Amino acid sequence: MIRLLLLFVIAWNCIATPAPPSVFRDEPPAAATTIDPFIAAQAAAMRPEYVADLTQADWDRYTIDIQLDPDRLRLDGQITVVLTNQTEINFDTIWFHLYPNHPDFGGRLDVTSAHIDGIPVPSRTLHGDTLIGLVTPRLIAPGDRATVTMTFTAHAPRNASRRTFGAYNMEAGVWSLASFYPLLARYIPGIGWDTRPIVARGDFTVSAIALYDVTVNIPFGWDLVSSGSAIEDRGLADGRRQVRFVSGPQREFYLAALQGLQQVSASIDGTHVISYVQAGDTAAGERSLAIATTALGVFNQHFGAYPYAEFEVIQAALTQFYGMEYPGVVLIEQNLYRRDDRLLETTIAHEISHQWWYGLVGNDAQGEAWLDEGLASYSQILYYELTGESAQAEAELNAFRATYRRLRERGGDAPLATPPSGLSNGRYVPVVYAKGALFFHALRQRIGEEAFQRFLVGYVESARYREIAGPDLLRAAEQACACDLSDLFQDWVVSATAVAIP
Ligand SMILES: [Zn+2]
Repeated sequence: MIRLLLLFVIAWNCIATPAPPSVFRDEPPAAATTIDPFIAAQAAAMRPEYVADLTQADWDRYTIDIQLDPDRLRLDGQITVVLTNQTEINFDTIWFHLYPNHPDFGGRLDVTSAHIDGIPVPSRTLHGDTLIGLVTPRLIAPGDRATVTMTFTAHAPRNASRRTFGAYNMEAGVWSLASFYPLLARYIPGIGWDTRPIVARGDFTVSAIALYDVTVNIPFGWDLVSSGSAIEDRGLADGRRQVRFVSGPQREFYLAALQGLQQVSASIDGTHVISYVQAGDTAAGERSLAIATTALGVFNQHFGAYPYAEFEVIQAALTQFYGMEYPGVVLIEQNLYRRDDRLLETTIAHEISHQWWYGLVGNDAQGEAWLDEGLASYSQILYYELTGESAQAEAELNAFRATYRRLRERGGDAPLATPPSGLSNGRYVPVVYAKGALFFHALRQRIGEEAFQRFLVGYVESARYREIAGPDLLRAAEQACACDLSDLFQDWVVSATAVAIP
């Protein structure tokens, strides 16, 4: 996400484990023909070179079937989640986030029935219905699987971006349905089930990688955009159509229904990129497409490959922030397309870098937001360096320096590891984005250009599709430089030492 600072002041918010058992696993080994149909369908979401990633881990599987009613901004659906207990403890309750019930979403998400392994189960909710816990009919032991099925209804607000989170809202031709379904809570080492109340400062979603197979039923006349790729699209007799998407390994499944927007598209490194813009902003739409393909291209080179077949940029009414990242999709505030400055470019680059920092490499956005936001902010600088715009890169850096300096002058400095809940009084953006970006600049100065580059690539390679914490980033950096960085980490991340501003 981008919430901005300063000069242009505002905000961006923004293992290999054994292959899963095939459904035909009792067949003889000659089963080179053994095909898991769920996995086979997922291949369409990946660039061909990365199809093998699909069997890299035993990810949870979501199958979602929904009907959209755009007139009433309502959806009805069914969800099945096949999950494996990958922790060390027995589960007696399985927790799901119901994000639309948070006041910032201004909507509703209600679970109307719940079964585990076919057995109806009782449930309870927490924190204003933003979490639902399903009581398991048996203990789910480490390594065990369970199949959770729920029916649900959801409702979104209209023209609400001035007062609520614009990514769950119908406005400016975009019915954006971020987090519209029950999303399995993470089991976080050291925390347990993530049943913390949501802190509205920064990004909401904390989730693990999963595979999604989603079928959407909607009236004709709407374009659908999602975290996945469409593998079926057929007309129904009643003036509606049905589209089925598969996601590949993604951290959540984003969905939007668009009406009246135009699209332009291009390809970069085997990924099809589409930019959706309002009718009056065609030229800026072409520009947004060029920025997006350039950013994906340079980040592919510099961080490691974006492995998915599709990527979309949507012009949307976010109003209270500049951009918002989702797996495979970014939303960009509509007014940035009409400005005569670098903000559209900077915002698109920032949000696209989240495909690596948040998407591929996951972290606890409600606990250690600096891990993704700090590196996404520093990626703005890398983007301008890599595209030959060194003066703009320096301007970005100077903006972060000035923001952090002012934070220090007013006595607001805090360790990077401070959770968003502890960063009140306007300290969230200066600490997480500005100080966060400067930490990566300090790291680069300390270990040198080559080791910093090795760190970025090695970090993605080792943490891809996983969730990391601060010490994991430290280890990746120390591995890249073959040196001890504990003092740097201590001064910036763990304590609020008055560090030299790099
Ligand atoms: Zn961000």
